[in-house]
Amino acid sequence: MIKFPPTIQNLIDQFSKLPGIGPKTAERLVFYLLKWSQKEKDEFAKALTDLSHSITHCSLCHNISENDPCLICSDQARDKAKICVVAEAHDLSAIENTSEFKGVYHVLGGVLDPLHGITPQKLKTDQLVAKIQENNLTEIILAFNPDMEGEATMTYLKNLLKPFTKIKITRLARGMPVGSDLEYTDEITLSNALKNRRDI
Ligand SMILES: [Zn+2]
Repeated sequence: MIKFPPTIQNLIDQFSKLPGIGPKTAERLVFYLLKWSQKEKDEFAKALTDLSHSITHCSLCHNISENDPCLICSDQARDKAKICVVAEAHDLSAIENTSEFKGVYHVLGGVLDPLHGITPQKLKTDQLVAKIQENNLTEIILAFNPDMEGEATMTYLKNLLKPFTKIKITRLARGMPVGSDLEYTDEITLSNALKNRRDI
């Protein structure tokens, strides 16, 4: 039995791929969109098309960007001797929103999760080591969620970076609740965690 015309069903299927959106919610979204004017629908479609055509990754920090290098990496005022390592681009935005960090970033592309096949080789770890070898760094801040995968990733990186004895390696201060998410941590808490970062 076909419930909806294929065009509608296709869009429902596409929305269902998004996190937190089940088939029922996807259905509701699609029927909501049907009530939009042609202009509104065109703008929505264009925003989505622009996403795939205009967004690239910065070849230096691996953040999502419209420019390569990104605005942060090409900013002369940023302290290139300090690198904040984060799992994902949205963690970078969370830290940027605190205005506390004036260095540059390295987006690892995820956290270690061997059960789901995320091994160090799947992350931008080699690129991080290369960056350290090529630049005169003073500090590397590991800014990961205080959960199991985040902790495992920090432990892995700590060992990986051990040979670079001249570089200070720090992590965010305790204070962020265990299991919390950088992305959803309020700016003051995150700003304090960054300000009071400690050696590991
Ligand atoms: Zn960049």
